Amino acid sequence: MARSKPAATMAVPTGLPAAEAADIARLVEDLDAMLSRLRLGAIREQLDALLDEAARRQLNLREALAWLCAAEVASKEQRRLSMAMTIARFPFVRTLEGFEFEAQPSIDPGKIRDLATCRWVANGDNVVLQGPPGVGKTHLEVALGREAVARGYTVQFITAMELLGSLVKGQQQGTLDVRLAQYSKPKLLIVDELGYLPLEPQAGHLFFQLISRRYEQGSVLISSNRPVEEWDEVFGDQVVASAILDRLLHHSHVVTIRGDSYRLREKRGSGLFRPQAGSSSSSAIGGMPPPTPAKEA
Ligand code: ADP
Ligand code: MG
Repeated sequence: MARSKPAATMAVPTGLPAAEAADIARLVEDLDAMLSRLRLGAIREQLDALLDEAARRQLNLREALAWLCAAEVASKEQRRLSMAMTIARFPFVRTLEGFEFEAQPSIDPGKIRDLATCRWVANGDNVVLQGPPGVGKTHLEVALGREAVARGYTVQFITAMELLGSLVKGQQQGTLDVRLAQYSKPKLLIVDELGYLPLEPQAGHLFFQLISRRYEQGSVLISSNRPVEEWDEVFGDQVVASAILDRLLHHSHVVTIRGDSYRLREKRGSGLFRPQAGSSSSSAIGGMPPPTPAKEA
């Protein structure tokens, strides 16, 4: 790599032709192209502003170089983040800062903040969020998924229906292996809304194959309106359900959310709904009507 000589002698990298003024002028002319070739897009786009700022701060050459590199690194990290968020296919933006813990007293904020460190993702552990509709399961999935993306993990969000539908289709078309490999790839697979809709008879077995592949390799974050004790009904097969749970729960954190739907609560606040008689923080799972697919931005 070319090294700089001290500014006092001449700031021309060794190995280049003699540093005549004309050569330097030509190099400056080529600067844009060289920055493009080196894929230093942020420096290229903001060069004048960055150099002006460096001059204003009276940075020496080394400091100015570090300043330019920092701008490039920040821009590349921003691009990586936004690309990884797109690849993750979150249905909407939700954050932990936007989650009102006071509205859901059955959730231990410390537990969620601990999950937000993503140590469980590093370890390949799983998380199950179980609770009735509208209590914030998908919100927390998206928020925790974004934390994992921010820490550099690959994440994919998918609804249980879409995932299992895809595996069933793969089996029918002879592409099951490709699809199992595809869903085994992300370090964290988020499976939303297991248990809302009836599954095809072979879905449980296919899901078992996926969970087995991911076992102790990558993490699964799964939400369900049915407690894990009822998953034999969800999969319509007790043997398959316990095989799935055996692997899923081996290294896992189960977060049980009780209480009222946040959506209905907002509506009640606006007078559209009256509180249900006997509604309490321990209201039975499934006690609320199934939600329409959540797509609000
Ligand atoms: P679930 O997946 O459990 O059915 P959602 O996560 O889709 O529920 O929540 C429904 C809506 O209410 C979403 O817009 C979500 O952001 C919001 N919500 C739920 N719980 C909370 C909360 N405690 N604080 C802030 N918003 C919440
Ligand atoms: Mg949901």
